[in-house]
Amino acid sequence: MLSHVEITARATVTPAAHFVWSNRLEYSHDCFVCRRVGRTVALHPGAESGLCHSSDGRLDEQDDVADAHPAPIRITGFDTTAGGGVERLRCRLSFWWAPFFDLERPGQRASELAERPWVRLHFRVGCHVCRDAGHDDWFGPQDSVQTDQVWPVTRPCPRCGTELVTMAGPPGIDLVG
Ligand SMILES: [Zn+2]
Ligand SMILES: [Zn+2]
Repeated sequence: MLSHVEITARATVTPAAHFVWSNRLEYSHDCFVCRRVGRTVALHPGAESGLCHSSDGRLDEQDDVADAHPAPIRITGFDTTAGGGVERLRCRLSFWWAPFFDLERPGQRASELAERPWVRLHFRVGCHVCRDAGHDDWFGPQDSVQTDQVWPVTRPCPRCGTELVTMAGPPGIDLVG
């Protein structure tokens, strides 16, 4: 069946922050193609499929790359809005899903939403104070947050210490009709 999940996140930013959500993400998924629960899929808007890889969340081990395969899950809505000092992200995922038991742990039944839903979101934040002072590296490197880290998350400027971003809690992950 075709199922949908909506991911929502908000970041409170100070006037000194230049904040941009990235449109790629990683998401926990019970994948009926490889019949494993708690896999991670890498997703990008415009991609016709997700990339299912190992359960540790990062596609950097050799084993993970060998293990990776396309999965019938993709981003079908992606929207970011800013206003009132808040940067919002809303992302809709659509995927084909069917019930199964995990191949290696037969007692574990898959579900539409993973037992502990997890997502990693990427963003970049720059510092206007450093920009105005003429520092070339005022726009910071790629950064990310993920469900299972310590919240709230704050990001002061690594150069001058100016407060830039606060995220109060983990992103929302909800099954939607
Ligand atoms: Zn898979
Ligand atoms: Zn700064």
